[in-house]
Amino acid sequence: MQDVTIIGGSFAGIAAAMQLARARRRVTVLDTGLNRNRYASHAHNVIGQDGTPPGEFLARAREQVRAYPSVTWVDARAETVSGEPDAFTVKTADGETIESRRLILSYGITDIFPDVPGFSESWGKTVIHCPFCHGYEVSEKPWGLLYSSPMSLHGPVLYANWTEDISLILDGHAIIDEERHKLEKRGVKIFDGKLASIEHDRGTISGVTLADGTKVPLGALYAHPQNRPSANLHEQLGLDTKPTPTGIMLAMGDMGATPRPGIYAAGDLTMGMHSITFSANSGSLAAMGALNSMMV
Ligand SMILES: Cc1cc2nc3c(=O)[nH]c(=O)nc-3n(C[C@H](O)[C@H](O)[C@H](O)COP(=O)(O)OP(=O)(O)OC[C@H]3O[C@@H](n4cnc5c(N)ncnc54)[C@H](O)[C@@H]3O)c2cc1C
Repeated sequence: MQDVTIIGGSFAGIAAAMQLARARRRVTVLDTGLNRNRYASHAHNVIGQDGTPPGEFLARAREQVRAYPSVTWVDARAETVSGEPDAFTVKTADGETIESRRLILSYGITDIFPDVPGFSESWGKTVIHCPFCHGYEVSEKPWGLLYSSPMSLHGPVLYANWTEDISLILDGHAIIDEERHKLEKRGVKIFDGKLASIEHDRGTISGVTLADGTKVPLGALYAHPQNRPSANLHEQLGLDTKPTPTGIMLAMGDMGATPRPGIYAAGDLTMGMHSITFSANSGSLAAMGALNSMMV
């Protein structure tokens, strides 16, 4: 019997495993190696690792956590999960069964790319989701923002930290006149048409074309595509979710606890704001929550 099974061994899961390993707890980490930022050539805004390729960053983190003798790392997909505190069972796609006292769900979310030529090829390069992660490198270039929800209207105000040239592509959505006037007063160019294609050279974009033929020259396009949890294990466990502007997240309590005793969660799956640092922080917290619950 393991103390904790961690499902998802990326930034959140490794942080949780490290915390538990250093408390000498027996941990099994299951992972399929598909960290969400694998499309980007470099990770940014992470102390000590600014500019490190994500694969290199995670390989080093995995190596360090796997060196602890109480950590078992399994490169496999968790397929089914069931049970209760002190008796959880996880079965992998390879037919392995792991039993543990607690669970930490850290399997992240998957971005669903819109069917627009050039989008998937440029994702993580110059079609990006977060200015703090990848905005510095494209400062002062013309930026576009692809509207996806009312939250998008906050983007141009934030982006003014990096560039004065901002275009909002409404992609066929309507916004109220008051919002339109506020943005226009700030110098934001607004295009109502639907996005038809993204022009790029190996992921470096030069602009976009709208369905009405309008061309908008751009050096970066911000986009927040819909996403979904990367597994359905929370459904198998009957955990509640709540909506975010682009998908769903698990409904969470304190210290990484879900409402179901013995089940903890961390990372993008549990938050509306996504970053490596936030994920690692929540992984550590979930580990503390799980550890505390085993000490009573
Ligand atoms: C293109 C892009 C670039 C980004 N760049 C940055 C950046 O520069 N700086 C920054 O701070 N943030 C960045 N982010 C955000 C950052 O990538 C995420 O916040 C972070 O990866 C979330 O970590 P996580 O551990 O929650 O999930 P993930 O990194 O998504 O990892 C989830 C892990 O679970 C595994 N998994 C899934 N299902 C199962 C299963 N059933 N069984 C076993 N394993 C499973 C996956 O293979 C994966 O390894 C970027 C995001 C994107 C989309």
